[in-house]
Amino acid sequence: MTLIAVSIWVASEPEVDDALEKVHQAADAGARLVEWRVDSLDAEGEDAIAVAIRLIKNSPLPCIITRRPTSEGGMCKETDMQRSAFFGGVADSGYAPKYFDCELASFRQHKTLWQNALNTDEKDTSLILSAHDFDGRPRNLLQLVEEMANEPACDVIKIVWAARSLRDNLEAFDLLAERKKPMIALCMGQFGLMSRVLAPKFGGFLTFACMDKDDATATGQPTVNELNDLYRFDQIGPDTKVYGVIGWPVDHSLSPKIHNAGFCAVNHDGVYLPMPIPPEYEHFKATVGSFVDHQRLDFRGASVTIPHKENLLRFVSERGGMVDPLAEKIGAANTLVIDDDGVLSCFNTDAPAAIETLCDGAGIKREDLKNLRIAVIGAGGVARAVVAGLCDAGANVTIFNRTPGKAQELAKIFNAEVGDKTPLERDKFDTYINCTSLGMAGGPAPNQSPLPLDTPIDESTVVFDTVYTPQQTPLIKQAEAAGAKTISGIEMFLRQASLQFERWTDKEAPMDVYRKIT
Ligand code: NAP
Repeated sequence: MTLIAVSIWVASEPEVDDALEKVHQAADAGARLVEWRVDSLDAEGEDAIAVAIRLIKNSPLPCIITRRPTSEGGMCKETDMQRSAFFGGVADSGYAPKYFDCELASFRQHKTLWQNALNTDEKDTSLILSAHDFDGRPRNLLQLVEEMANEPACDVIKIVWAARSLRDNLEAFDLLAERKKPMIALCMGQFGLMSRVLAPKFGGFLTFACMDKDDATATGQPTVNELNDLYRFDQIGPDTKVYGVIGWPVDHSLSPKIHNAGFCAVNHDGVYLPMPIPPEYEHFKATVGSFVDHQRLDFRGASVTIPHKENLLRFVSERGGMVDPLAEKIGAANTLVIDDDGVLSCFNTDAPAAIETLCDGAGIKREDLKNLRIAVIGAGGVARAVVAGLCDAGANVTIFNRTPGKAQELAKIFNAEVGDKTPLERDKFDTYINCTSLGMAGGPAPNQSPLPLDTPIDESTVVFDTVYTPQQTPLIKQAEAAGAKTISGIEMFLRQASLQFERWTDKEAPMDVYRKIT
């Protein structure tokens, strides 16, 4: 079983009570070890040892004591002689911790000093030998691991580096899978989360977590609550299938919450992670290609978002996979599926989700769309999927856009009409669909509606805003005030997610669970 180790800084004696309180909370949340980071203790000599003893003595969890030197990315400025005297004092105090973490570089250089201090031959405490690289993958990665594995005093190998891309995680997984001793192999930074969450899939000895993001002791560390509640860490095992949301950026995506909760609700052995990939096709191709080819990973699918929807289509075509004809026509796909035999396929679930959402919200059938005059405002990615779905269903669509050329281009592909920049007062439509980013929090104009105030909206009109942050957009408020029937973009978002879920699991998506999350 892979342990969750909560890692906590303690810089002075007065901080001890708060730190112990945090460990109690972490233990309640599922942590099984605590790493005390006493690198920057303001006390010295016997006083520093006394602080460590208080921490160990009162901790509700078994402890790791770490006093990382600046040379290895930590904050301790003491010499190895001073550090080893500290460890020796703690080891001999009668309150030895379960583990000491000692850096390989220092151990190698002053082996006798460390062996004497830690009493490695007759010890109650186990030794984690560690190596860290904050600049990227160590060039001698495999040699370092081999050296730690061959060191008789080493009980647990720890190798940590700053991931340069998601691909670095795969090497961490291979190291774990081929380990000769208990091992910790983790990647730091925005690309390293996978290594932290998937440690149990590959038999990692532990993964580190923080209680609050602000208190993290390394970049990219998840919180204990995220590991347990969001990623269901204790359910992850060798057969767990891996999914994710691929985009740039993906930090604020709702998809991990939705899909992990969905997997849990139907007992699907899967975990869903954020997968940031820089915008260029070469990055997409290299990363997704290596995930697909990495048998051990069990990579089975992804939601693909901005700016990679076109890249997904190209990638699956180049690999000889199946491209859904609607996605081909739209020129963008948002769903990757990898089946049991490794065969790739891609789909666009935005278009069917938009149509289902509109029909349900308006209380009509798909065939009724033929009788409606629909105004689509916007000509970007979402508009493309919405227009494709509507035209496929035979609706009478007019596209309005700030940049008329883009509206014309889109209209030509799908046989739609082109309007002006926005619908005019005299132009009455049955349905208005906003596909611009106007009204979106953090977008170009969060307080602006895409429809002028004199747009003829009344009780017979349906207004659908694809923007879903916030759910009450300026357009939705305007339409509600005019008595129109309104549809929020969150419904479309949840439906496109549910269609992805069904492709991956062959099970009906738990929409009730999704709705509770939003
Ligand atoms: P996109 O490709 O960048 O297109 C943005 C559209 O908004 C373009 O038509 C653009 O006009 C227009 N626009 C941007 N700023 C404007 C302004 N100041 N005034 C007038 N028009 C402006 O983006 P997208 O991927 O289509 O996403 C659009 C919105 O859809 C997002 O903001 C998001 O909230 C929503 N969305 C919803 C879902 C869902 O499932 N519900 C999914 C994805 C996105 P130009 O062509 O003139 O630049």
